[in-house]
Amino acid sequence: MSEVSRVYNFSAGPATIPTEVLAQAQAELLDWHGCGMSVMEISHRGAGYTEVAQRIEADLRELLSVPDHYRVLFMQGGASSQFSMVPLNLLGQKQQADYCDTGIWSAKAIREAGRYTRVNVCASSKSAHYKSVPRMSDWQLSSDSAYVHITPNETIGGLEFYDLPETGDIPIVADMSSTILSRPIDVSRYGVIYAGAQKNIGPAGLTLIIVREDLLDQALDICPSMYSYRKTADQHSMLNTPPTFAWYLSGLVFQWIKRQGGLTHFAEVNAHKAKKLYQAIDQSDFYHNDIEQAFRSWMNIPFTLKRSELDNLFLEQAAEAGLTNLQGHRLTGGMRASIYNAMPEAGVDELISFMLDFAEREA
Ligand SMILES: *Cc1c(COP(=O)(O)O)cnc(C)c1O
Repeated sequence: MSEVSRVYNFSAGPATIPTEVLAQAQAELLDWHGCGMSVMEISHRGAGYTEVAQRIEADLRELLSVPDHYRVLFMQGGASSQFSMVPLNLLGQKQQADYCDTGIWSAKAIREAGRYTRVNVCASSKSAHYKSVPRMSDWQLSSDSAYVHITPNETIGGLEFYDLPETGDIPIVADMSSTILSRPIDVSRYGVIYAGAQKNIGPAGLTLIIVREDLLDQALDICPSMYSYRKTADQHSMLNTPPTFAWYLSGLVFQWIKRQGGLTHFAEVNAHKAKKLYQAIDQSDFYHNDIEQAFRSWMNIPFTLKRSELDNLFLEQAAEAGLTNLQGHRLTGGMRASIYNAMPEAGVDELISFMLDFAEREA
């Protein structure tokens, strides 16, 4: 690899991608596997790409231990399109769906679902100012709902939960955009898992859906063909031309995750990285994060400076130190460090040491 200098990129998404993966893509770019073309110039229906697609699915299934009765779909439109695809594909004869409201992303999912069905907000963090998640036993689940939708990691608020409510036969649908692949999960507890790729998977443009087979035939008649889980599954995610390059690059990330030791390895590293950063925040009286301990996100860590007039100076000096994209979401202000799998522990260490120095200089 040539000597290029890479910054530590704390963006929430599109997020940092492992340098090793980018270097591999670069090395293969002009002549992919000896075919004299790049992978983005070949037919998605040819033998070469078919093999790539199959291997990518196999790797993902291995990483997440996806049971055989689940289908893996690669679609487009981002997680936001899933806000419509989920009700369109799952409502069947039902007139209602349960949604848990834990922040900005679940609110968006709720708003969109309301175009197709009655929404029962079965639990809400609103009265806790989105700093904690209601006890599962207090959730007001409805027995008439087609599914229960949750957002296990609120990317903007930095609120995360992993317990699941007991929903009996009613499938749980989870927007895992910013937490998928950060730790092992029991896929069999979910009906549908979906995630936009640009956080913890790969480039924007690809959306991952894992759906239990028996849920493929609950679509409303108005569901557009391109939005249909059933049709997408039957055509191996190639209803039309898929985002081949984003798909291929995500596959390189899956292989990278496997080489590092899979999801048990990342669960350990991610927990450790997050713990360090929260500790640094908690031990300082200059930085602050007010999410309830048990619900603090491993992936997205928002924090504020005691003197918000120093925000711009903090961001400027951080960027000079090679620590970029630390500004919080435009709706919340403050700072946010997104520390997905591809953020090495050394990046978190540098951030912490910069934060401590800054606090000492400016406090
Ligand atoms: C980023 C994000 C989205 C939106 O993703 P797009 O791919 O931009 O549509 C939805 N939900 C969560 C939890 C996210 O983090």
